Amino acid sequence: MTESGIETIAAIATAPGEGAVAIVRISGPASLPIADRIFKGKGPLPSSRPGGSFMHGIIAGAEGIADEVILLVYRAPRSYTREDAVEIQGHGGSAAIKRILREVLEAGARPAEPGEFTKRAFLNGRIDLVQAEAVLDLIRARTDRAAQAALEQISGHLSSAFNRLYDNTLSACGDLEASLDFSEDEMPPSLMQDVAAHLKGIEADFKKLLGSWDEGHILRDGASVTIAGKPNVGKSTLLNALLGRERAIVTPLAGTTRDTIEEQMVIDGYPVKIIDTAGLRDSSCMIENEGIRRARDSVEQSDVIIYVIDGSTPFSKEDAQQLELLPKSKTIIAINKSDLPEYETNKPYASDWSVINISAARREGLQELKNRILRILGIQGGLPHRAVIAERHRRLLISAHKDIVEADLLLSRITPDPALAASRLRLALETLGSVTGRVYHEELLNNIFSRFCIGK
Ligand code: GDP
Repeated sequence: MTESGIETIAAIATAPGEGAVAIVRISGPASLPIADRIFKGKGPLPSSRPGGSFMHGIIAGAEGIADEVILLVYRAPRSYTREDAVEIQGHGGSAAIKRILREVLEAGARPAEPGEFTKRAFLNGRIDLVQAEAVLDLIRARTDRAAQAALEQISGHLSSAFNRLYDNTLSACGDLEASLDFSEDEMPPSLMQDVAAHLKGIEADFKKLLGSWDEGHILRDGASVTIAGKPNVGKSTLLNALLGRERAIVTPLAGTTRDTIEEQMVIDGYPVKIIDTAGLRDSSCMIENEGIRRARDSVEQSDVIIYVIDGSTPFSKEDAQQLELLPKSKTIIAINKSDLPEYETNKPYASDWSVINISAARREGLQELKNRILRILGIQGGLPHRAVIAERHRRLLISAHKDIVEADLLLSRITPDPALAASRLRLALETLGSVTGRVYHEELLNNIFSRFCIGK
């Protein structure tokens, strides 16, 4: 702790295990004095160097030499946290880097909490909460597209959309509050209608942002696609074809896939969990029955269901019964084995199902199948970098939107109530403010930053 009362924090910033380089990060007012104490190298001390310098030397303390290192100097406000900061790059592997951290802590830093560097970047006004959350999204991104969306968010794209919403709501609220000072005959005649019209525009912006949640959710958490259908129709072959490798056992015997098999794949940059289920038929075998129960659960929880039918055999009563249980909006009927002669040309399913012919064995029709999966997921074919909201943003947006709609209703009445409408808008502003962190409390910050790793 220094006179400013701000503690200096330190942590290993690289992942544990072997690697070429490992980094200890230090941030806070005592970063450079601490570096002076433990770093030995040629030339001036770290604290006499300008920001952006790097130095070669050793870290040494009571236990002797900890490692040979490169030390980087950052000067406030030009650092990740906007504080004075130091990065020490040592050799990868856990022993040496832990010794460096020990020396740093003994020289006066305290261990950083998860996400504390990013939290300081927020508290010091370098980034807002939406950008801070995007740092975590970037760390966790499983595909290029997810990483790209996170980078957009870090650069402030989504924050601007939220800030616009906030500013527009604030201006509508300001107009209303000003009107409270007018007497009835002084009031500009169209003021209430003007504010109500303004609010309608704001409501449309809310809808646009809320509409990006599906895509954001899929980029962050992945979608789940279940392959269902009777035994032996080619479900495992389809799974292997989609993955492009052999995973599920394919045999001509009915009931080979006894349990559900889960695999991860990427469709057009979106992470997808794909589940091959045991057939949905009834069976006398107990193990297979358990598999069938799991298949039903997985169908219910899935974002998309591919119901596979063997097109070279008659359409069965069982298929008809199964299809009746499936939600049309998220089901694709894949008629497999299109390389074999078709059993019947007039298929007895209604035309409003999404139906596609494929040959899993010959890998035909798979691209169209993937396109349809994306369509059901609400992804409109490759909008590259769109600001996409996360679950926390969605919850707050829904709540603020409700207040704005109510304010609009209060103004559209025959006898408008501008005072109550203004108080609704104030509530909406408070909610909107907590999205980007204009308004925040400690619990909210803990909730967000505790999900980070230590050292970030
Ligand atoms: P599952 O029980 O539904 O998982 O079915 P499998 O994937 O194990 O396939 C059952 C049988 O159908 C195997 O002999 C596969 O080789 C065969 N099969 C799967 N897809 C096709 C296809 O597109 N064309 C043909 N001709 N045979 C296929």
